[in-house]
Amino acid sequence: MAKEKSGGARSKLRQHFLANIGRVMDSNELRKVAGDISEWARRVRELRTEEGYLILTHNDRSELKPGEYLLEISKPQPAFERAISKETRAFVLDRNGFTCQMCGAVAGEPHPYDPTRKTRLHIGHIIDKSMQGPDDPSNLRAICSVCNEGASNVTLTRPDLQKLLVQIRRATSADQLEILKWLVTKFPKQAIEISNK
Ligand SMILES: [Zn+2]
Repeated sequence: MAKEKSGGARSKLRQHFLANIGRVMDSNELRKVAGDISEWARRVRELRTEEGYLILTHNDRSELKPGEYLLEISKPQPAFERAISKETRAFVLDRNGFTCQMCGAVAGEPHPYDPTRKTRLHIGHIIDKSMQGPDDPSNLRAICSVCNEGASNVTLTRPDLQKLLVQIRRATSADQLEILKWLVTKFPKQAIEISNK
């Protein structure tokens, strides 16, 4: 039998995912679908990174085990997210301190809403494209996959400072210390300046 070309394996995987929306599949099944090639996992990754299919793994969903894959929606992500240059992406992530600008989750760390998930950051628009928001870095920000999945139509406003301070003052000392630790990690220079005053 002739060796499968990579394009062939990718399109077989794409068809299989699209025919099995919402069903969890494991690596054995996908390897077989891809024609038993060793690069099957790379082809799955390409469906995600190059074609924009939101194929979920245990990094995205706590109920998935390592080696399990799930596609829930057939529509790929807009080309924007894929076409964004490495430089712009790196610039925005760095400017945002590799932190989700909606919930404060840090890239690579357990997600605060779901500690079994590792935080994965995407680039999102501040003013949505549907509202004529430009693709310019000034209109882009880091958003984690948790917020990205649920946030498309939700307008989250930043908490009001006074209310936020009241919340923190009412919290337990242990929680306040957690907040302090998080702030010191986020603002190391300012923390030294303030403590030297
Ligand atoms: Zn988030």
